[in-house]
Order: sequence, then structure tokens, then C-alpha cells
Amino acid sequence: MIIGILKEPQEENRVSLLPEQAEGLIKNGNQVWLEKGAGEKAFALDEAYLACNVIIQERTKIIQEADILLSYWAIPEAIAGQIKEDAILIGVYQPLFQFNLMKQWAQQKLTCFSLDMIPRTTRAQSMDVLSSQANIAGYKAVLFAANLFPRYFPMFMTAAGSIAPAKLLVLGAGVAGLQAVATAKRLGAVVEVSDTRPAVKEEVMSLGAKFIEIEGAADASAAGGYAVEQSAEFKQKQQERLAQSVAKSDIIIATAQLQGKQAPLLISEAMLKTMKAGSVVIDLAAATGGNVFGVQNNATIQLHGVTLVGNSQLPSTMPWDASKMYGKNLLNFLQLILNKEGKLQLNFEDDLIKGCCITHNATVTNSRVAELINT
Ligand code: NAD
Repeated sequence: MIIGILKEPQEENRVSLLPEQAEGLIKNGNQVWLEKGAGEKAFALDEAYLACNVIIQERTKIIQEADILLSYWAIPEAIAGQIKEDAILIGVYQPLFQFNLMKQWAQQKLTCFSLDMIPRTTRAQSMDVLSSQANIAGYKAVLFAANLFPRYFPMFMTAAGSIAPAKLLVLGAGVAGLQAVATAKRLGAVVEVSDTRPAVKEEVMSLGAKFIEIEGAADASAAGGYAVEQSAEFKQKQQERLAQSVAKSDIIIATAQLQGKQAPLLISEAMLKTMKAGSVVIDLAAATGGNVFGVQNNATIQLHGVTLVGNSQLPSTMPWDASKMYGKNLLNFLQLILNKEGKLQLNFEDDLIKGCCITHNATVTNSRVAELINT
């Protein structure tokens, strides 16, 4: 198999495989072709790939001849037409938002696996790209906030006066939220957390943070680890309770998401106005609308004395480890679809293969994506 790796879009720093990760695939009889400089922004240089027997190849040749194309983002539309029929694309394509692109790929007879759609099961954990990258996002969100915050995180009693610890509110206790809690606690902040899934209370408390209890959340136990839409009554209750915490908070890390939908708006303008000047909000859900009023995606602005950061791409700011973890997710997935001799074997009885396969045999195979195309 020829496995191709292209340069990601300009604003992305990650690369799909680090040199030593490519080496394992080559030992199994595959060729790995890399576009010149594709790993540079992750500090994986062409020389390091060459030392691992990767072939540095022309971009056009990779697009036209690779059997498997690995990427994080979707291959740009302008060049996707040149990909050979029956090639396999593996990446993080957000097909519930990019359903028209998926339709196009199906028409082009490409087989596409989108790892963000892999079922959230124990067996899938080693391929769960949403988790590996969200972990980084949660960590970097807190470091970013600490950088922008005009005060200390930890408590200090010094001869020059006392410093109170920073108060941090985390919205959403999924993978990113829990890592944000752990990181903020390490820095000495006092942390409160809100989530609609009561099951996370124990995890939040085990990290030394306080869980904000709100009765009456919709049951999400059948949603495969994801949150579900809440009733108007619950939203009202949550708003009232969150208002108390927001007024006391110096920092908000917002991570609440609903799979394939706009993120829930949890903090209103009135709530924001109650925060002290110099407070900081980092909204990781900005790409799908954000949890906090006024947040703009890919921008840092000031509103009512609060610094609002909308950034859903923080993993890209730690590109070495983000690439390493993403590459490991890809390798684990490739093991499912390639046998020991490097030959393709697609077993659609396997729930992981079936779960993240979006297009195959000129068809959009994922029913949720197909439904979106037809509505
Ligand atoms: P996510 O990014 O989809 O959402 C982040 C968090 O926001 C979730 O905890 C969600 O409950 C919360 N949220 C949504 N709406 C909210 C609202 N209105 N108010 C407050 N909070 C709200 O979540 P995620 O990080 O991808 O993971 C969610 C869960 O999935 C994990 O905690 C875990 O239980 C499960 N999971 C399982 C696997 C696996 O087994 N392979 C892997 C990763 C995650």
C-alpha cells in the first residue's frame, strides 16, 4: 500500500504521522510518501522522515497515486478531484457538518473514514481522536487563560501582601473539561464545574473541584457518551444557578458540546457583565457557536472588561504531542483495516470500521450523514 501524507492547511501545525510512526508501517511492507515539509510545523523535519525510510514525494503524485491518504483536515476541494478512484481517506472530517463534501467523495468513489465518528466504546479508546486532542485543548486552555489573566492562579501570603487564589468555572466535564480542571488545580486555582451528565460528578470531585448540582437534566445514558439537548425548564434552572458562579469566577473555560449540533449558549451578556474586569473566558466550543455570549471564533476580544478567546484549535498549538497522539490513533485504526502483510481488509461487521466509515462503494454509508444530505 502507498500511504500518503499531505501538508495540512496553512493555519494547521499538526502532521498525521511522526517519522518513527511511519517506520512501523514501512516495516510491514507499505510505502509512506510525505509531501516536502509536511511535518515542519510540528518540528518533524524531512531528514528525520528520510532516516525512517519515508519517501519525500511531489504533492500531485501523492494525491494521484496514494492508496491511503492520511490527513487531519479534509483534502482541499480544488485538488480532491485528482484523487484516484477507490483511494481511502482517513482523517477528522466533521461529516455531520460537511455532509455535502461527503456526498462529493462518495460520487468520486472514495472510501472515507472519519475518526471523529468512531463509536465511544472501550475498544475504540486507542483510536479516539476527539479524546486525544481534547485532552490537549483542556490543558492549553488553562495555560492560555493563566497567560492572559492579570493576576496569580495560586494563593500566596507574602510580606508584600496576600493573594487570593483564582476562581475558575469549567463548563462541560468531558475530556477537555476534566483536563482543564486537573491543570487548573495543579496551578492552585479553586475550581467549579457544570455538566448536564450527573455521572461526571464523581470524576470532578476526585480532581478536587466542586460539581454544581442542577436537578432534572435529560438522560444521556443512551447517547454513546455524548450529551443531549436539554428542556427549556432545565436550561432556565441551569442559567439561574450558573449566574451565581459566573459572578464569582475570574476565569471560565467553556467546553460544552452537542455532537453534530451548535454548542449550547450557557453564559448570557447579563452574566458576563457581572464578572470582574480582567477576567478571562476561553471558549473551546467557539467553532460551533460557543458557550459564552460575544465569543468570536478564532479571535480574542474584550467585552465588558472581560477577555474573550474563541479557539477550538488549541491542540494545533502543541503540534508535536498532538501529532504523536493523532498518529497513534491513526496507526491503531490502520491495524484494523490492514493485515500483517499490509494488505487491505475491510470488515464492515466490525462496529468500529462501520461506525466511522462515511463513504464506500460510491455510497454515503453513514445513515446520519445520508439523512442530512437528503433533508
Ligand atoms: P463533548 O466534547 O461532546 O462535550 C463536552 C462536555 O460538555 C460533555 O461532558 C457534555 O456532557 C457537556 N455538555 C453538553 N451540553 C452541556 C450543557 N448544556 N451544560 C453543561 N455541560 C454540557 O464530550 P467529550 O469530551 O467528547 O466526552 C463526553 C464523554 O464521552 C466522556 O466523558 C466519556 O464518558 C465519553 N467518552 C468515551 C470514550 C470511549 O469510551 N471511547 C472516549 C471519549 C469520551
